[in-house]
Amino acid sequence: MKAAAGRAIGIDLGGTGTSFIDMYGPDNIIRRERMETPRARDEIIAALKKTLRRFLGNAGHPAPVGIGVAVAGQVGRSGKSVVFSPNLPFKTEYPLGEELEKEFGMPVFVENDANAAAIGERVFGMAKGMDDFIVITLGTGIGSGIFANGKLLRGHIGSGGEAGHMVIVPEGPLCGCGNRGCLEALASGTAIARVYKEKTGIQKSAKEVCGLAGAGDGAARATVGAAGEYLGNGLVNLVNLFGPQAIFFTGSLSNAPDIYFSSAFQRVRDHSFGTAGKDVVLAVSPLAAEVGTIGAAALPLLK
Ligand SMILES: [Zn+2]
Repeated sequence: MKAAAGRAIGIDLGGTGTSFIDMYGPDNIIRRERMETPRARDEIIAALKKTLRRFLGNAGHPAPVGIGVAVAGQVGRSGKSVVFSPNLPFKTEYPLGEELEKEFGMPVFVENDANAAAIGERVFGMAKGMDDFIVITLGTGIGSGIFANGKLLRGHIGSGGEAGHMVIVPEGPLCGCGNRGCLEALASGTAIARVYKEKTGIQKSAKEVCGLAGAGDGAARATVGAAGEYLGNGLVNLVNLFGPQAIFFTGSLSNAPDIYFSSAFQRVRDHSFGTAGKDVVLAVSPLAAEVGTIGAAALPLLK
């Protein structure tokens, strides 16, 4: 997998916020913008077009190679459509890529956000030159992009590589996907907020609980540490299945206090099969804060 050089626009379309980046690379960014994601699908399309028009009118730069859109959800195998998203108003297949191509006359690629993060990591980040690695996005939910033998793992219908929905505790807490005991229901920001409330009766966001844990609050530390152990169990499964050279972490929980990652990494070192867990690189991605948009911008640059 090689990347072309050139200007590219990346859009990270999320359930609450949408971010745009216009760049030649992470070290040469022309501009970035963020907006609240509108509620209705037609409003989202109109808002995307409006911002893109503004970006493309940027005089003094050559035309972009193309546009990439990372979406929190399932995308079509053609890389042009959104099939389904739990947190966005896309409940039936919608040809988002084709719609934008018609409007702007350049290639548009649509990709699942965690897969885009993995592609961004391979083109611009720490996974350069790696054929076997995994990127885990840790936030409200847990997503993953898995490269195996140099290829992004998609599965038969494009729904594969969803590590967040591996079942870790049978009949465990309810997950957003409808199943019980998924990794996401045990180790995500949503899980941290829920468990802290169960322990203390106090409703706090995951960010607040992490802040308390960092400051030494006992209940918060126990909550975040337990979430980290569940994450570690998920990582052990991934290490045993895929034998990756590295696992990189992105998303809002990448700044979680040490106890989250140290609990997770210890499980990987102690419980993986054979020697795999001793050698695997485990690291928060330096691109973490922007890997969604940077990954989206990498899509049109892939050869
Ligand atoms: Zn699930």
